[in-house]
Amino acid sequence: MNGCVFCKIVAGQSPATILYQDELATAFRDIHPVAPTHVLAVPNRHIASVNDLAPGDEPLVGHLVAIAGLVALQEGIDQSGYRLILNTGPDSGQMVFHLHLHIIGGRRMRFPMG
Ligand code: AMP
Ligand code: ZN
Repeated sequence: MNGCVFCKIVAGQSPATILYQDELATAFRDIHPVAPTHVLAVPNRHIASVNDLAPGDEPLVGHLVAIAGLVALQEGIDQSGYRLILNTGPDSGQMVFHLHLHIIGGRRMRFPMG
């Protein structure tokens, strides 16, 4: 989608530290990490948010979760633990309207925030 920063990262037109990419999805480091590991896993295709998922997109969402598991292993946080967050809409604080799964770990977190 024109003007979407995550579409540009997926296409290699905007800089990012890419940790994983295949034909369906891409994972790259968050530019403002809130923990030692903070990675975003996104579908390569522009989907604005969970509200915009269509029937048939379930395997894609499952794929993002599986990528999170791979990234966690690669980052060495699979055993210490990590949090997966899918912000959706204004009350969640979603700022980028291209679906992204936050993978956050490497420090102790409180629940549900911080
Ligand atoms: P959200 O509030 O869930 O929409 O989170 C958007 C996330 O994208 C934030 O954690 C930002 O730091 C991150 N972000 C925004 N622009 C970039 C970028 N160009 N490269 C990497 N991460 C970004
Ligand atoms: Zn996009």
